[in-house]
Amino acid sequence: MSTLATVAGWQTPFSIPPFEAYPDNQFRDSFDSALTSARKRIDAIATNPDAPCFANTVEALELASWELDRICSVFFNLVAADSNEIREKLQADLAPRLASFSNEVAMNQGLFQRIDKLWQSRSELSLDEEQKRVLELHYRDFVRSGASLDPESRNRFASIRVRLAELRTAFAQNLLKSERDWTLDLSGDEVSNLPGFLVSALEEAARERGLRGYCLTLNRSLIVPFLQYSESRKLRQVAVEAWCNRGAPGTRTDNSVLLEEILALRQELAELLGYRCYADYKLETEMAKSPLQVRKLLDAVWKPALGQARKDASVLQAMMQDDGVDDQLMPWDWRLYAERRRSREFDIDQSEAKQYFPLPRMIEAAMDCAGRLFGLEFEEILPQLYHPDCRAWRVSRQGDDIGIFIGDYFARPSKRSGAWCSTFLDQKKHGGTSRPVVVNVCNFVKPSQGQPCLLSFDDTRTLFHEFGHALHALLSDVRYEKVSGTAVARDFVELPSQLFEHWMELPEVLSKHARHAETGDAIPEDMLAALLAARNFDQGFGTVEYLASAYVDLTFHTSDKISAPLSIERQVLDDIGMPRAIVMRHSASNFAHVFATEGYASGYYSYLWSEVLDADVFETFLEEGGPFNANTTQRLEQHILSAGGSRRPDDMYIDFRGRLPSADALLRKRGFA
Ligand SMILES: [Zn+2]
Repeated sequence: MSTLATVAGWQTPFSIPPFEAYPDNQFRDSFDSALTSARKRIDAIATNPDAPCFANTVEALELASWELDRICSVFFNLVAADSNEIREKLQADLAPRLASFSNEVAMNQGLFQRIDKLWQSRSELSLDEEQKRVLELHYRDFVRSGASLDPESRNRFASIRVRLAELRTAFAQNLLKSERDWTLDLSGDEVSNLPGFLVSALEEAARERGLRGYCLTLNRSLIVPFLQYSESRKLRQVAVEAWCNRGAPGTRTDNSVLLEEILALRQELAELLGYRCYADYKLETEMAKSPLQVRKLLDAVWKPALGQARKDASVLQAMMQDDGVDDQLMPWDWRLYAERRRSREFDIDQSEAKQYFPLPRMIEAAMDCAGRLFGLEFEEILPQLYHPDCRAWRVSRQGDDIGIFIGDYFARPSKRSGAWCSTFLDQKKHGGTSRPVVVNVCNFVKPSQGQPCLLSFDDTRTLFHEFGHALHALLSDVRYEKVSGTAVARDFVELPSQLFEHWMELPEVLSKHARHAETGDAIPEDMLAALLAARNFDQGFGTVEYLASAYVDLTFHTSDKISAPLSIERQVLDDIGMPRAIVMRHSASNFAHVFATEGYASGYYSYLWSEVLDADVFETFLEEGGPFNANTTQRLEQHILSAGGSRRPDDMYIDFRGRLPSADALLRKRGFA
């Protein structure tokens, strides 16, 4: 363990982790000593001869594993954003060890009895609201982790959790391997009709792998535009099949056996605790509370989305026929004809439009909005980070330091796919004040030397989305780490991120920041109008591909017996009437949300649930005087963004809005009203 680590963070400028103090060959020792200290402290709390009180039990527990928290934050951020063989090997070794450790804590009877005693006498403890909530969450964690089971069930529960951690890691590593292994060499002829930005990205992808010419990979920022522009139906089919085959049976990285075991163990775990199914167990602590509520929401959106997708499919089918292709519209056709239709109906040339969305200006746009809304200021600093492509900003408000924001924007083979926000340090006050150190990781295609990085409209949305999560972490103002920043219910956590996307779509923001990469000219008004008008274009497709995955996730976790999950997946798609020309956004074999983590298991609906909230919050701004209305912003920060998980989500929402939302604002937002 680096001696620079402290209970409040690191003893470095701005508490940024000293990455050079964590060489790969040291991690194992650091984990060992961090685990030893944590075990010692937990044992001391559990065997404390003094009667339990909030300070000697809950507050002590909050700080018991701070060394482990530090080392985990460094290691797991690195393994996701910049992995290598040593780190992956270590990750696989650590998964069961860390799971055993959390089991030990969760099953520690001495500790649980103290927490239980405090919980039973909570009304006499004169705790404030945040303390009550922190006690409730700790108590709930213990019960949900099997602490109140009989010894035999407790042991079984513990070994299931360890096995699940191994399986999830294996699933994630298979997926990363399948994404890394697959490339498709393209000839000069095969790229000749593609837009310039895509050709240079394909060339860069080849160069990165030591190849010559052009190379398609499974990076979403390459494959999506390839499907939009490649006129070779055969190559598009190869690309879609490779995308869908990640982790599929019969490949070197077959995930199907893993996911069957994962589902069986989750069901057993839920039954041990007395739940009918895993989703009942999982959703109990969410805002949705039950699978029934989730299914209601999915059903409310599915019909209008499917109706829209069917209408769109027939338009695209006709375009394909006119194009001389006498076949049924297939998944590898949809994006090509949709893109042609978009440019015809809205007159947008994507590669021309991208010129107005250079990455540095879009970062400025996000920061400018955060400044206008919350008074935050961002000053770029140049610390040593874990990869030379990372950038860092010091975030302050009226001269007070708020935290550090790190942006790691470019794709590379060592980074897993997708975009995410995580932290190196969470905000807290108890036991030494920590200011948050937050990171946004994206997979934008890195431009060739000297070229600007140009984003699509969707990439820009991703940038704002992750920045919204970052604001949630940065604006956190709580005492205990347990409830800091994004430590909220899963179906509430996408509210700040999806909400912030609305600001990216404001004409006043875009006309200020969307400027041509070379000339600096503001985006032409007609192009801006067309981009905004096209916002709901193809929402039928986007909603259907998403909802299909959400239905499969929910079904997997509400059935009490799951065998042959891939045939159940097919059955679900039949039952909902999945159009032939659309594939699921994530099919089970590569559904990282659900099988590489526990967090989104039976929780993939969360994005939609949060969207019900974000659509309603944004309508609040519009009702109350506009997107920068100071009073609305102040209530948003007070009741939602700064509060983290210190209160129940329903209560926070009602304090902000005066009522709970319905799905109406969401249907209006998606253009299905
Ligand atoms: Zn998100």
